[in-house]
Amino acid sequence: MTCFEEKLRTYASLIVRFGVNIQKGQEMVLRCPAEAYQFGRMLTEEAYKAGAKEVIVQWRDSVERRLWYDHAPMEVMENFPEWKAASLNNYAQSGAAFVTVVSDDPEIFKGVDDAKMRAASKASNEACKYFYKRMMASEIQWNVAAVSNEAWALKVFPELDAVQAVEKLWDAIFRAVHITDDTDAVKAWEQLDETLSHRCHVLNQYAFDRLIYKNSLGTDFTVGLVQNHIWEGGSEFSGSGVRFFANMPTEEIFTMPDCRRAEGTLKASMPLCYDGTLIHDFSITFHEGKVTEFSAAEGQEVLQRIIETDEGAGRLGEVALVPYHSPISQMGLLFYETLFDENASCHFALGASYPTTVKDGASMNSEQLTQIGGNDSAAHVDFMVGTQDLEITGITKDGKEVAVFKNGDWCLD
Ligand code: ZN
Ligand code: ZN
Repeated sequence: MTCFEEKLRTYASLIVRFGVNIQKGQEMVLRCPAEAYQFGRMLTEEAYKAGAKEVIVQWRDSVERRLWYDHAPMEVMENFPEWKAASLNNYAQSGAAFVTVVSDDPEIFKGVDDAKMRAASKASNEACKYFYKRMMASEIQWNVAAVSNEAWALKVFPELDAVQAVEKLWDAIFRAVHITDDTDAVKAWEQLDETLSHRCHVLNQYAFDRLIYKNSLGTDFTVGLVQNHIWEGGSEFSGSGVRFFANMPTEEIFTMPDCRRAEGTLKASMPLCYDGTLIHDFSITFHEGKVTEFSAAEGQEVLQRIIETDEGAGRLGEVALVPYHSPISQMGLLFYETLFDENASCHFALGASYPTTVKDGASMNSEQLTQIGGNDSAAHVDFMVGTQDLEITGITKDGKEVAVFKNGDWCLD
């Protein structure tokens, strides 16, 4: 297997049959950039071949969205169309699987009126709340994967010309999702799944009360974990018992922080690309779980927009561990795309927690989740803190210290 077309076909098949794991007779909603129409068609074909009842394709276009932000009035941003929300919410209810293809220009929305973006994301989050809830709780199968494009590729490889850059980004994507010339992709994924589930098992045994983070960048931080938290990573199971991978690539294991117990400062180790704007060199300080201070050398207003989304967005909802020497970080690339960068670095998320990361969480309502320290928010935004010298120490309930990460890497085997 060498040629590009073959790899692309393998990728499409991997996403459909292994990633989202479409079942015979199931509907699949495919959200795909119009620019990536060839890949979108390939995914559609693979889904039908795998037995999908219907593939519902929702083409998206970020350039059209940019025009929308620039020209449509505020009242349009504030009112998410009912029919649009209904299509997501209804398919989520009927048990469809969701595949989202991302392929963005990392700076497509740079300079867009902040109030408009805030209004649009608030309206969409509220209108599609049911869909997002089902997704966050892994009730439905979902998968997010990426395809290369010119604007993105040139951001990652500014020294190359467009054609070379697109090719190089494809290489990096294929490598990140374990599609190589000499290994079987599914086998590689099964192996990765084993590694991740082993790490989860080890941490679940320790059932730490809290984790302490320190590095030379200036991170000095303690985060409490909720009682009966569960470390998750790799594949998971939907409400109807279908195994799926939510992200391709993935290298992380993650769990639920107690959103009332976070103390100290986290320094971002990578820029964060959020909604088409980059946030550079930022740090966030917490007290009693809540953000008390934050600053960014660039993109401060975007960071502020995230944190002020709602009450929960100023607290943590995810703690994730990724060794500094993960295959993705070893590529030494900054992808400007969370799907990749989060899998190259230890990270946290501001906003909603994943209900599945606490015992019986999937069956709790938001009130019950809040009571145990889970976080409820319309936002969920990952930001990276991992460095080569990051040390993470786990403190058990009886006060024992256990090194979890040393020199940026997992050290608990
Ligand atoms: Zn994560
Ligand atoms: Zn996350």
